[in-house]
Parts: sequence; C-alpha cells; structure tokens
Amino acid sequence: MASRAVYPGSFDPITYGHLDIIQRGSRVFDELLVVVADNPAKKPLFSMVERVDIMKGLTKKLKNVKIDLCEGLLVDYVRSKKANIILRGIRSFSDFEYEFQMALANRAISADIETVFIMTSEKYSYISSRLIKEAAGFGADISKFVPESVRGPLMKRIGVRK
Ligand code: ADP
Repeated sequence: MASRAVYPGSFDPITYGHLDIIQRGSRVFDELLVVVADNPAKKPLFSMVERVDIMKGLTKKLKNVKIDLCEGLLVDYVRSKKANIILRGIRSFSDFEYEFQMALANRAISADIETVFIMTSEKYSYISSRLIKEAAGFGADISKFVPESVRGPLMKRIGVRK
C-alpha cells in the first residue's frame, strides 16, 4: 500500500527548516500533503491562502508533494485524505514536549493515525518562523533563513524596505 503522510503546520512563513523536512519527508513517503493548518492560538502574519500560494511555488519540483489547507480538526482532515500518518519536525527538547503531547492527544482521538518525526538538520535547528519575523522587524538580513519568495512579501508586510 502506498504511504500518504500529512505534514501540518502554521508555516507563517515557511522557512528553510520546514523545506528541509518537506524534502526529506518526500523521500520517505510515497505522497506528502503539506497542510497549512488553522491555529486559532496564533495570530498569523499571512493569510492561509497566501501561505499556500508561496508554498506551492517553492515545492513545485517535488512531484509527490502537494500543498493544501485545513480549517477543521486535523485528524478529520487526515482521514478525509485517506492518509494515516502525521509528519512533524523536531528541533529541540522544548519542541519535544509539545510534540509529544500533541501526538498523544491525536492518537487518543484516533488510534489509527501515527505521528512520525523527522529531526531537524543541525544547520536549521535554530530557525523558527517567529524568530524570522522578529529579526525581519528589526531589519536583519533573513536571506539565510527563507527563500526570496518569502523574504520579499515578509519585508513588505512588516513594512521594512530592503
Ligand atoms: P505549528 O504552529 O504547528 O508548530 P510551525 O509552522 O511552527 O507550526 O511548525 C510546523 C512543524 O515544523 C512543527 O513540527 C515544527 O516543530 C517543525 N519545524 C519548524 N521549524 C523547523 C526546523 N527549523 N527544523 C525542523 N522542524 C521544524
């Protein structure tokens, strides 16, 4: 049976850290659905549709990767796509605690869905969307952290001309 995994996240915005997980995930699974998930706890900088558009542009060379969005419960989305794997990335012990809790909660809701983790590549281990937004706000050069198709719209949104 072909494996189909869902990699959910806020991706606000997508970073080289996320792209690394996507690339590596696309080698592990037959199909990878990267999903912009609605997280009511976070106030996003980019709309879900904007994030999806940017991410489509960045992943078009990966033939088994698709970009989508999910506004409801993640496990319902996973099931509706006939997938049974949730992919997440881990950078640190602090990520672990949160991810562990999420994985257990998702399994309590639906025992047939497995969460699989890919460890960060060390060169991306400190990159987060939050850090990049903060750095960009102070006018820092963020070209090491995000591709040009993210940097341009991000600087514009934050109001820094560079
Ligand atoms: P969420 O709000 O769902 O945590 P994020 O967009 O912050 O969404 O992250 C999505 C997933 O990608 C999470 O599992 C997170 O741990 C992982 N991730 C984020 N940045 C990196 C990185 N630099 N290296 C590896 N995994 C990462």
